[in-house]
Amino acid sequence: MILVVAEQHDGMVNRSSWEVVAVAQQIARSKSDPIKVAVVGVDVEAAATELTKADVAEVLVVENDQLAVYTPDGFVEALTALVQAESPQLVLFSHTYQTRDFAPKLATRLGRALVTDCISSKMTPDGLVLVRPMFQGKFVADVSLRGAAPHFASFQIGAVRADAAALGKSAAPTRRIEVAIDGMAIRQKPEAPFKEAKQAVDLTQAERILAVGRGIKGQEHLSMVQELARALDAEIAASRPICDAGWLPMDRQVGSSGQTVAPRLYLALGISGAIQHLVGMKGSRTIVAVNRDVDAPIFEVADYGIVGDLFEIVPALIAALGE
Ligand code: FAD
Repeated sequence: MILVVAEQHDGMVNRSSWEVVAVAQQIARSKSDPIKVAVVGVDVEAAATELTKADVAEVLVVENDQLAVYTPDGFVEALTALVQAESPQLVLFSHTYQTRDFAPKLATRLGRALVTDCISSKMTPDGLVLVRPMFQGKFVADVSLRGAAPHFASFQIGAVRADAAALGKSAAPTRRIEVAIDGMAIRQKPEAPFKEAKQAVDLTQAERILAVGRGIKGQEHLSMVQELARALDAEIAASRPICDAGWLPMDRQVGSSGQTVAPRLYLALGISGAIQHLVGMKGSRTIVAVNRDVDAPIFEVADYGIVGDLFEIVPALIAALGE
């Protein structure tokens, strides 16, 4: 059995959890394994109901008052009990910040390793192989799973498309799992989220992203980009130098030290396509790049490339969208 641990916030399923459902379905097809999806927290009914649309055997609802506020200790307690009760062969997560927070401890608690940030999987005569980038995406490694199950792995956001997840003919059954959590085992006492964090944009959920790089030359030109973003109904993102310069806030940065995104449309303006930027956006469905350098590496991942001056192309796009 493959267990997908879905992530939810305020009853909303994180889109990347659907991507992991798609990954589980790909793996399950070659192994004929059933898939179960777990939702953990309190008041997760709406999220569970959304996930019952997936073509999976069951949705497991793990609710407990101790999980009202996310803590890594609380999640590890709940998921240790769940994994021990359900005995999955493979436990899959989306490689979100929350997963990075608790999943290593969960795997360690159960005496297993966690294969992080995978981008694909393949079935070989020797069993399942997980593929993950190394050295900032310069190499990819094939990782074989050794030892006894369960095996734990997280998948990079955007590694597969969320809409690749097959839906069931009817709603999957849900089952409540009672877990006992000792409040004393929870050492973290989270405070209310920082105000900035509340306002922070979650680019991973954006359908369209308009990303701007050093080609924009000065902060004063960002208004033009903002106008195009409004016309496209897109979120604004940036390469690192733009955020380092303070022209846009850090939570808009895409790349190895920023967010990993996979929108339907990623429009890159004046971004060269350094590897540290590409690893954060190459999973986007359609990539359009505007750059005046025909040899810019961004064109290697772009579906559509416009070689030209963004100061001519952006106003032309705004005008065309206005029509
Ligand atoms: P540049 O590389 O300077 O490219 C500007 C581009 O604009 C050029 O290709 C140029 O041809 C084009 N251009 C100029 N004028 C115009 C014009 N008028 N019209 C059209 N095109 C024009 N970077 C990230 O983005 N995200 C990260 O998370 C990240 N993490 C990093 C982590 C580490 C440890 C390190 C070492 C680096 C990291 N970087 C990251 C930095 C990365 O290596 C690059 O320096 C950065 O991505 C370059 O940003 P850029 O493409 O905006 O600028």
